[in-house]
Amino acid sequence: MANKERVFNFSAGPSAIPEDVLLQAQKDLFIYPGAGCSVLEMSHRSASFQEIIDNAEASLRRIMDIPDDYAVLFMQGGATLQFSAVAMNLAKQGQKAAYAVTGQFSKKALAEGKRWTDAVKIADSSDKNFSYIPDITEDMVPQDAAYFHICANNTIYGTTWWRKPETGKVPFVADWSSAILGAQIKVIDHDLIYAGAQKNMGPSGMAVVIAKKELIDREIDPVVPIMLNYKVAMDNGSMYNTPPCFSIYMAGLMFGWVEKNGGVAAMEKRNHDRAAALYEYIDNSKTFSNPVRPCDRSITNVTFTLPTQEDTDAFLKMAKGRGMINLKGHRSVGGCRASMYNGLPDEAAPALIACMKDFEAGKRE
Ligand SMILES: *Cc1c(COP(=O)(O)O)cnc(C)c1O
Repeated sequence: MANKERVFNFSAGPSAIPEDVLLQAQKDLFIYPGAGCSVLEMSHRSASFQEIIDNAEASLRRIMDIPDDYAVLFMQGGATLQFSAVAMNLAKQGQKAAYAVTGQFSKKALAEGKRWTDAVKIADSSDKNFSYIPDITEDMVPQDAAYFHICANNTIYGTTWWRKPETGKVPFVADWSSAILGAQIKVIDHDLIYAGAQKNMGPSGMAVVIAKKELIDREIDPVVPIMLNYKVAMDNGSMYNTPPCFSIYMAGLMFGWVEKNGGVAAMEKRNHDRAAALYEYIDNSKTFSNPVRPCDRSITNVTFTLPTQEDTDAFLKMAKGRGMINLKGHRSVGGCRASMYNGLPDEAAPALIACMKDFEAGKRE
């Protein structure tokens, strides 16, 4: 049962963290067992912290089934800095790179890619306001590109690449920020995955990179800042400098929580079931609608609209009055969005659907 004093937080990020994880962090915060001080204060070179980072990585490897020939890196600068890091590590300056644009984050990734590479857009779903995922066939991907980049779960538009694009020999890179650990991702289908932590891996301050070692184990242009260099991060166990210790500690607790609760398969089932209930309600509603092609719908970010802005405002107010917050759509698109990551309690989605039904029946609180 969820704590009654806590709201149901549908935020797209930073987002809800499981109560068990918060309570564990609270317990460890004054004195981390065996360290005599908190994780906020300990040296990153201490045995205690080495154990924290090693356990976090090992746990992530187990729950995502990450093979040994992939590196796991804990990087700073969020997912956004990975837009730059991917380009600067995988491509020589001016080399070709391919992008699919399926929303705001892939657009931003392309813009950063252009600073370093000859980035080309090979697919774009803006013609239908990013409401679908395009098909990618090998002939669309320039085979001399250094990599092909997608945003695999479009947090703002509520779409997901459920079908693997065919890239041929070109390394395949995916930003999984808003579905990592919420949906089963086949690591071996990718050459590089990255994700900002604050959606499903704890607080902000970190991005996780999972990359094929042979792809990043190479000398890159010395002009690239050392903090962006994947090989340096890999060779130094993600501790070339002081890492985001607290974010890594929290991510470790999140990984352990997923593991204890049935692994990513169980997370996906739970996310699938609650999203399906919400989509079913929306599809049969006369007030709420969702524009996304059904086969491309996200199970972690469900978007929906109401007929007018007044309706939207009234609905958001009613939901807030019932303890449901952050249901407003992204500032760039409006409408509503329910982000349902692993930390959201079971009671939240049914409460949201009940609120939508009551709204449709004319209630306003
Ligand atoms: C949130 C998000 C980002 C941006 O993450 P930051 O950590 O704020 O840089 C990038 N891509 C996707 C898919 C996201 O959901």
